[in-house]
Amino acid sequence: MTAISIRGLVKAYGDRRAVDGLDLDIETGEVFALLGPNGAGKTTTVEILEGFRTADEGEVSVLDADPRTADRAWRNRIGIVLQTSAGLDLLTPREILTSTAHTYATPRGVGEVIAAVGLEEKADERIAGLSGGQRRRLDVGLGIVGRPELLFLDEPTTGFDPQARRDFWELIRNLASEGTTILLTTHYLDEAEQLADRVGVIAAGRLLALDTPANLGGRASEEATVAWSEDGHRRTVRTATPTLEVRRLSERFVGEVPELVVSRPSLEDTYLSLIAPHVTQADVEDHATTTRKVLA
Ligand code: ATP
Repeated sequence: MTAISIRGLVKAYGDRRAVDGLDLDIETGEVFALLGPNGAGKTTTVEILEGFRTADEGEVSVLDADPRTADRAWRNRIGIVLQTSAGLDLLTPREILTSTAHTYATPRGVGEVIAAVGLEEKADERIAGLSGGQRRRLDVGLGIVGRPELLFLDEPTTGFDPQARRDFWELIRNLASEGTTILLTTHYLDEAEQLADRVGVIAAGRLLALDTPANLGGRASEEATVAWSEDGHRRTVRTATPTLEVRRLSERFVGEVPELVVSRPSLEDTYLSLIAPHVTQADVEDHATTTRKVLA
């Protein structure tokens, strides 16, 4: 069962193609992460799928409908996380969630949503007093209160502290286990690795790679690096047979091999090498800085 089908999608702004012939299928019940550098065309693609932008060429089907002409019943089946809490400063999270819930046929309980996004302590305070991360949690709450079958999350954890991100991941896992199809865009490779069944990497509006996080770009079959310390130096060996290398080392050393580490390319390593031909060095450094800030 296909929740989203994209064929030959093209969207240009002036003479620049933001989306340049994209083909992609997302299965029902799947958590799919769309990755790509700034300006890759992620938001444009997602907004076409949501019916907020029109394509220039190609075919798009979302829950068996064309988003441009889909009706209210269709809209009730999808959840979108917008910057909705902006401009609602005088209301409380409980008030806006309650009034939004009333617009859906089978909404989640407001208390359940408040708990799911971790806003219990702020539920009855004015939105004006919420931090950036708390507002974003409210946005996520507004996206899920209608019990959507398909949830779009565009950079959902930007501004979250590390604990809030982990709480959010738990929420997404729970939604996925209930059968919700989720399309998320993110710049955080650990987020994609934690959540996604499959990832698609796009740059310049084209799909560069599509696979599970473990297999992306042939990651699983790449050589491993075995590293250890010896005679005051760090030693490394790249090998297709790391177990054999570790066995050799353990025979050479009596007891523990000092500071032994066996590693394969991280998802971030693979991602950066995939997009390298499509981005400037400044973009790569920008990405690394953003990631470091989030993980700090
Ligand atoms: P980011 O990771 O920075 O959010 P993105 O992958 O979501 O980027 P898009 O926002 O889809 O990228 O933008 C793709 C390209 O289209 C960019 O070059 C952007 O400048 C351009 N673009 C997007 N929206 C418009 C618009 N309304 N008018 C003109 N150009 C636009």
